Amino acid sequence: MGGDSEHPARQFAEAWQAATGAVSEWQRKVADATSEALGKLDPALRAAVQAGRAALTGQWRDCRCPCGTAHPDDRGVCDGRAVLTRRLGEVDVSLCAPCAVAQGVAEMPR
Ligand SMILES: [Zn+2]
Ligand SMILES: [Zn+2]
Repeated sequence: MGGDSEHPARQFAEAWQAATGAVSEWQRKVADATSEALGKLDPALRAAVQAGRAALTGQWRDCRCPCGTAHPDDRGVCDGRAVLTRRLGEVDVSLCAPCAVAQGVAEMPR
């Protein structure tokens, strides 16, 4: 039982660490981000981070998006599971990914 450097669990742990690092980094950026800055994130990165965050934390918060006023054209996109927080005035508002995109970026494929 030795010299097993190709152990899958080890590779998984390394990938996991890389993923969590990316998530926290991304979340710091998002916390300060304007919708403009959020729009600059690569869509593939956003999707990866969202999936990773869901798997890592297992704890979804509720989306607090005022869909009817924030993005009236895309009211149906909300999936109710907040993956990020955006600061609106004095309060942090939890947003699900579709709502964040609908509010700030409007580049979601339909
Ligand atoms: Zn919404
Ligand atoms: Zn939503």
